[in-house]
Amino acid sequence: MTATLHCAVFGQPIAHSLSPRIHAMFAAQFDIALDYRAIEASLDEFASKLDAFAREGGTGANVTLPLKQEAARLCTQISDRARRADSVNTLIRDGNGWRGDSTDGIGFLRDLRDRHRFEPHGKRALLLGAGGAARAVAFALVEAGSQLAIANRTRERAEMLAETTRSQVIDWNTLANAEAFDLVVHATAAGHGDASIALPTALIGASTLACDLSYGAAAAPFLAWAHGAGARAIDGLGMLVEQAAESFAIWHGKTPATEPVYAALRAMR
Ligand code: NAP
Repeated sequence: MTATLHCAVFGQPIAHSLSPRIHAMFAAQFDIALDYRAIEASLDEFASKLDAFAREGGTGANVTLPLKQEAARLCTQISDRARRADSVNTLIRDGNGWRGDSTDGIGFLRDLRDRHRFEPHGKRALLLGAGGAARAVAFALVEAGSQLAIANRTRERAEMLAETTRSQVIDWNTLANAEAFDLVVHATAAGHGDASIALPTALIGASTLACDLSYGAAAAPFLAWAHGAGARAIDGLGMLVEQAAESFAIWHGKTPATEPVYAALRAMR
């Protein structure tokens, strides 16, 4: 075994994060000694807690809700894909600063293609949401060759994202007039709160794949809607494992096997 490496995930709330378990399972595949903690941090606390983590020897961090944009601001260097998405979920200690990357988009595509055998090239895709995860997914889908339409509760955010990704905007309130899509991606945070969103079944066709980026209880309402409309539906657990694998590879230079980790987490849920 090598010297212990110190990594962490920052967010709020963070207690139920699966990332410490995922990274422990990845590290075990290579006999890497890894201390990976979950650190609760509000937006106001994040910069000072990240500084303290670096002083204690932290070399890598994941960042989740609501800190991904703020993480981008705190970096001294940032990858192209993170800059485009204005979202950083992976921090790498580099000299006296942090380098930022975004592995959400590639994690999403790997789950779609490798686990669910869905090739987005040439497909009509609808993205619901325009936050950090949606932005990463939008660039990934457009680069993969999908024809993308974006709907967001706050229309201006959908318009900004559509402009930079050369996508179409559909007004959130007129979704019922839209035709069926090959892929419907639910990337809003609505499932984490009390609010429920009402989606029209017109969005679902005979071979639509419906995908919620969240998992567990937060994904339940969207998955119930999609199943009710007759769609094949998947949650974000596979994306979570794949984006973590990409972060792990960036930090440790080794690509972990994701399927056993995905299977272990699925069995627990
Ligand atoms: P975010 O940046 O805070 O964006 C939130 C988005 O949700 C915005 O588009 C917001 O619309 C919309 N929204 C929030 N409440 C809503 C409601 N009641 N009705 C309609 N729209 C609502 O969050 P994020 O980081 O993008 O995360 C979005 C989801 O992706 C979360 O469920 C998160 O857990 C999931 N996620 C999963 C993974 C994974 O690896 N599986 C990775 C990243 C994120 P407005 O613009 O109108 O506010």
